[in-house]
Amino acid sequence: MIILYVLLTILCVLVLVMLVKTLLLNKTVNSIEKITDTQVDIDKAIKNLSEMIQCKTISNPNPDLVDWKEFDKLRKYIQKSYPLVHKHLRREVIAQYSLMYTWQGTDESLEPLALLAHQDVVPVMPGTEGDWEQDAFSGRIDEQFVWGRGTLDMKHQLVCILESIETMLEKNIIPKRTVYLCFGHNEEVVGSSGGGAQEIAQTLLNRGVRLGCVIDEGGAVVDGKTFGIDGDIAMVGVCEKGYADIKITAHHDGGHASQPPKNNGLVQVCDAIVKLEKNQFKKRLIKPVEETFLELGKHMGFGMQFVLANLWLTKPLLLMVLSKSRLTNAMIRTTIAPTMAEGSPAGNVLPQTANISVNFRVLQGEKIEDVMNHIKKTSKNKNLELELLRGKEPSAISPMQGYEIDIIKITTRQLYGNIPIAPYLMVGGTDSCYFECVTDNIYCISPFKLETSDLKRIHGTNEKILKSQIENGVKFFIQLINNYCM
Ligand SMILES: [Zn+2]
Repeated sequence: MIILYVLLTILCVLVLVMLVKTLLLNKTVNSIEKITDTQVDIDKAIKNLSEMIQCKTISNPNPDLVDWKEFDKLRKYIQKSYPLVHKHLRREVIAQYSLMYTWQGTDESLEPLALLAHQDVVPVMPGTEGDWEQDAFSGRIDEQFVWGRGTLDMKHQLVCILESIETMLEKNIIPKRTVYLCFGHNEEVVGSSGGGAQEIAQTLLNRGVRLGCVIDEGGAVVDGKTFGIDGDIAMVGVCEKGYADIKITAHHDGGHASQPPKNNGLVQVCDAIVKLEKNQFKKRLIKPVEETFLELGKHMGFGMQFVLANLWLTKPLLLMVLSKSRLTNAMIRTTIAPTMAEGSPAGNVLPQTANISVNFRVLQGEKIEDVMNHIKKTSKNKNLELELLRGKEPSAISPMQGYEIDIIKITTRQLYGNIPIAPYLMVGGTDSCYFECVTDNIYCISPFKLETSDLKRIHGTNEKILKSQIENGVKFFIQLINNYCM
């Protein structure tokens, strides 16, 4: 009986402590005044975006298959449309098609800002052309939208960066802090050799430049509904997962399929895949993901606040819940996605070699080497050959507190009001990770409000952007430069 009382008392104290921790969550959002008086020539910005969409700067892993004339066309258009940028900034062409502009600041003691955007876009999936309501490269402007491939990824940002600087130059503004504009040309081809952004970063490194901050695509302003939050929230990417395409190959005797041996090559690679599927990587709550939930948790319902304020006890429960949806599962572990398979060339021929390629997105704390070891360990098959086709290790994690991220939060709130802003882990890749060699502060945010329906248009069908978003984008970059570089 006494034991029961003791247990009950412990339980009551525990619940009390958890309740107090929940109630102590700091739920305040620093109040910032909205900026309303920035003048932007929105029609010009929209026309420029439309023209840039019409340049078919489509990436391909094989450079011989890229139509480079379209990149020339885009470069010429940028040159023609932003005369002041080209008069006052130094432009350098790097890796043949990437562009780097330097807007020299007056105070050399301040570490420069770099604004990134890539010029290339992904192709339209063959066979889906007819599903587009407007031609993918029409750049059609209607009442509400600008249409076409690149309007969300990411010529919108390219245009807004250029417009913001042209607008500031019209007012004869010179920043104290130097600003670099870095426009790579092959972001959509992960780990491609001769990566434009990689070479820009190397150029800066070779010149001994240390950047104060890098801003690239990634996060956005989105509807908080997904997280059970009323109103908009903003997400700022502070790190990105690694990437590995690994080909698993088995060699075996070929021959006629009428007299098959046991366990041929194709069976062996399939067996390895099934074992991988059954032996997923461990669930882990890395710091940026914990921060996402801690920050957003303040604005969620009591139940979630109770769980999040007491992660010392509830972490396993949270991990279990997060693993149930593919969206959140990708945030807590290295993911495994078999993507391509090859056997013999004919239905009645045994394969002499068989292979399956698997795409892994590597979570911080693991490396590509760990992925290789995981495949070896789970398959227990020494006959398998592993080949890394393409890879990029997980990025470093940018500080989640500090001057630079504060500037981004202030700028975002000046535009979108006092909304919750959370750091987050990006499960996809960007060019920004190549800049780790020249800065500790890499933040990924596209300053546009994305609707849930927009998310599937990125790399998908009917990509389009609300015209009003372009205005937001230009104002964001003007304000960011005002806040950080003046
Ligand atoms: Zn992109």
